[in-house]
Amino acid sequence: MKDVLEVSYTGDLLAHRRCPRAWAYEKHAQFQPYEQAQAMEGRLVHHAMEWLTQKFHPSTGSHATAPELQDQLLHYFRVLWARGLRTGFQSKQETIDRVSGNLFPGGRMHPTVKTVIEGAKHTEYELRTVKKLVRTDFAGKTRMVLTGVLDLVVQTAEPLVYPRVWTWTDRDKLSGQASSQTIASRPGDLEIWDYKGARATTTHIRDYVIQLLTYAGLYGERVGESPVRCVLFFVNEPKREAQLVAIEIDPDIVQRAEAWTIAEAKRVRQTMLRFEQDPGIVEGGDLDAASQPVGTRVDVELKKQCTACGQRFDCQEYITHLGGAGHPDVDLINVTKN
Ligand code: SF4
Repeated sequence: MKDVLEVSYTGDLLAHRRCPRAWAYEKHAQFQPYEQAQAMEGRLVHHAMEWLTQKFHPSTGSHATAPELQDQLLHYFRVLWARGLRTGFQSKQETIDRVSGNLFPGGRMHPTVKTVIEGAKHTEYELRTVKKLVRTDFAGKTRMVLTGVLDLVVQTAEPLVYPRVWTWTDRDKLSGQASSQTIASRPGDLEIWDYKGARATTTHIRDYVIQLLTYAGLYGERVGESPVRCVLFFVNEPKREAQLVAIEIDPDIVQRAEAWTIAEAKRVRQTMLRFEQDPGIVEGGDLDAASQPVGTRVDVELKKQCTACGQRFDCQEYITHLGGAGHPDVDLINVTKN
């Protein structure tokens, strides 16, 4: 397998786009972060949705209840805590209440959650991952295995209305935005859903759209049936009308998304080689902001990662962003922080 570049869509490709330096240390060189502040809530959301889907009984139509979900989340929170995951929220109960409250507002299952759980497609061999072997030049590697994890494939039984739709402003550049247009699914539509713990205003939404389109392409190749749309579900978005974003699929846009993904995998490979040559030359900050001055490449979302990043103490990008090495966030002897 030495000739093969293995790339996980979220763990490598998207993490590398957030910050190549943190990716290189944590994923490539395997420096385990002592805590992962951002991962906790997203993991809880994914676990909750997976668990609720398993608990649904199609024959009786019964679902798990809000108190049952609370118990399950409490159990899973302990598992994640033991693995070193942390939360930006004040307490365990606050985090669990927030996740379960979003899925069971007012104690009743969110209607969207109910619809997707009931429409979840259970295949004989449950397809949880999509993989693709790509043969091209990855600087010393001639093949790449790309892996992605599917949250849910839904065969809609009841039509769902999507109040926000992804519209392309430039298909060549794959740029676009979520806009207030309404579309409705038809019974039997095959959809790929992805749950996000972020708010709908996340600056990473374009990356998520391209990720799902790539998954749709890989899923279609694997099972021979192409989804008609992808759906991003921002579970923690307080405005209900902004929680869902539908992305209509056509072969041209899927092809473009796959090409973008391969190009990003090549950037991962380049960072890998540079890091192996000299770890000090891989700079921190958003990959797309790499041409901007040091100190301006950390945005609001990346800052949440930086504050718990194990590599922050000698990260020129973050230190400059904070105004200097005297900031308590990058003070090595600030024991209250560390
Ligand atoms: S502190 Fe922030 S910018 Fe620096 S390596 Fe960590 S995540 Fe990247």
